[in-house]
Amino acid sequence: MISRADAIAALSSEPFDVVVIGGGITGAGVALDAASRGYSVALVEKDDYASGTSSRSSKLVHGGLRYLQQFDLGLVREALLERQLMVALAPHLVRPLKMVVPAFGGARLDRVVAVGLNMYDVLSVEKIRRRRRRREGERDRDGEAVAEWSPERHRTISGEEVSELLPALAAREPTSGYLFYDCQADDARLVLTVLGEAERFGAICANRLEVTELVHAGAGDRETGVVVEDRAGGDRFTVRAQNVVNATGVWADRLRPEELHAAAEVPTIRPSRGTHIIVDRDRLPLDAGAIVPAGGGRTIFALPWLGSTLLGTTDNDFEGDIDHVCPPEEDVDYLLTAAGEFFATNLDFDDVAGAYAGVRPLISRSDAKKSVDISRKAELYETSSGLITITGGKLTTWRRMAKMTVDRLVEREDREAPCRTHEIPLGLAIDPAELPDVQGVPLGAKTALADRYGHAAREVLAIADERGEFAQPIVAGRPDLLAEAVFAARREQAGGVGDVLLRRTRLGLLAARELCAPASGAVERVARALAPEQGWDGARVAEEVERFRDEAREGGLAPGLGGTGGRAPARQGGAPRAGGGAPVLRGP
Ligand SMILES: Cc1cc2nc3c(=O)[nH]c(=O)nc-3n(C[C@H](O)[C@H](O)[C@H](O)COP(=O)(O)OP(=O)(O)OC[C@H]3O[C@@H](n4cnc5c(N)ncnc54)[C@H](O)[C@@H]3O)c2cc1C
Repeated sequence: MISRADAIAALSSEPFDVVVIGGGITGAGVALDAASRGYSVALVEKDDYASGTSSRSSKLVHGGLRYLQQFDLGLVREALLERQLMVALAPHLVRPLKMVVPAFGGARLDRVVAVGLNMYDVLSVEKIRRRRRRREGERDRDGEAVAEWSPERHRTISGEEVSELLPALAAREPTSGYLFYDCQADDARLVLTVLGEAERFGAICANRLEVTELVHAGAGDRETGVVVEDRAGGDRFTVRAQNVVNATGVWADRLRPEELHAAAEVPTIRPSRGTHIIVDRDRLPLDAGAIVPAGGGRTIFALPWLGSTLLGTTDNDFEGDIDHVCPPEEDVDYLLTAAGEFFATNLDFDDVAGAYAGVRPLISRSDAKKSVDISRKAELYETSSGLITITGGKLTTWRRMAKMTVDRLVEREDREAPCRTHEIPLGLAIDPAELPDVQGVPLGAKTALADRYGHAAREVLAIADERGEFAQPIVAGRPDLLAEAVFAARREQAGGVGDVLLRRTRLGLLAARELCAPASGAVERVARALAPEQGWDGARVAEEVERFRDEAREGGLAPGLGGTGGRAPARQGGAPRAGGGAPVLRGP
């Protein structure tokens, strides 16, 4: 990406066809779609890219088996098609993931699950047939995507296979299981990659620019731009644009609330909080994902992710401050309990390597509904000033949401500009074997870099070659290199340590406890690597280290190390809830 300073210079001087508010996956998608159809595009993000919900998901690119229970077939089918397309467009970032539903004690596998998995297969298979037709030269009615990857049908597997895929479950001696497929990504990296592609098509993007007002040309006219406040200490200025797209997710009704609420047909956003925790792989080794029964008839996922194990999510209505969402103690406890019982192991707060929470921008048409039942469908609405708002939806369906938005722009301007995003590769995958060897770079780091950056991994390695220190891992034993901090500052508009640790790399989630430990020098090393890029002196480096520690505390990244996290409350009687047959908590 171009530097933030250059982006601001362009944003404050040039007029644009479209300004997109919000640098999550939806805004990034709209910027890419619009720019690739020939619009001049500006995108502004009030905090850091992906700092909202788009870095706090379960990281699944999936149809969502659960939505089948709600007979949301359209949503599942759409998401399954997108899932396959994402693997084709960004094979390094969006990867197939085996998922297992195990059974124990010789019990028959659940028939209801089988029905759901059959439907899941059928909804994907239809796409495969369509693709075959297209390969044979037949055009699809809507000219949709050509997908490369397609999952095998689900099947029944033996207890041994279940244990191989889920070593953490071996002690419970599973007797059989269902195996099916979904996909997984690094959500924040997906956002950064889509933004990078948008920029390739000419979009100008800048973070830490908060939209405080929309600008009218005159009564009844369309918006002619937005007023932004530079949260990095700069000026207020206007970004001039013919069209304004509000892609602010859970913040969507904060912009012009009076206008939105005056339109009777506009639904309300019901924020729903979801918490995840991360446990080191050696505590809970998984090579496939598992669906884990949890309290209250709900299930959670246990997923292998970036060498660790990710557990989540909770799903509860949220009425707190959406700018500061952190994992509450009871959510962490709920996840530890569910996983402890299922895997028949003792898990407690000391096992939590990191934790995070996010809020879903759910759309509600009826106050009586609970968040788990509210649709994950996207909603697009256009209000009196011409402002287009796109919200709801899923990480998986970002491209569809973007298409829907830009189709509306095209329609109202009577342009001829078909969507192209189904054929635009994202981030150019590269074989790690093609990357150069750089002295000091540990084994395995090249694969991790190729997975994260695709072709741009070459640039990271060139930085690693600048100084011996840059070739070293930020946290010992993890593949993330200090060079990535420098790359993040030079090429991805990272402005602080949190940007590097939370969203450019994901160490702030995977190794939060380690980073936050007083003896860890990792945060200081990142701050010192950023210093020459940002022009920081020694005092500023110390300030930035403290700023990250505050951010980690406020975000509850390391439960048990202070802040809003804290230790698990003693459970009454210490007995496990149904299903696990094992003690749940080791302490406190
Ligand atoms: C716990 C949880 C788990 C999930 N798991 C999955 C999953 O596994 N798979 C899946 O497909 N989906 C999942 N989702 C849903 C998915 O994460 C979201 O639908 C998606 O990330 C929303 O993206 P967005 O861009 O619309 O919103 P956001 O990512 O929140 O982006 C909106 C952006 O707008 C910015 N903004 C707000 N106001 C302003 C302003 N005034 N000026 C400038 N910028 C502003 C914010 O800072 C923010 O960065 C999950 C969601 C949650 C909460």
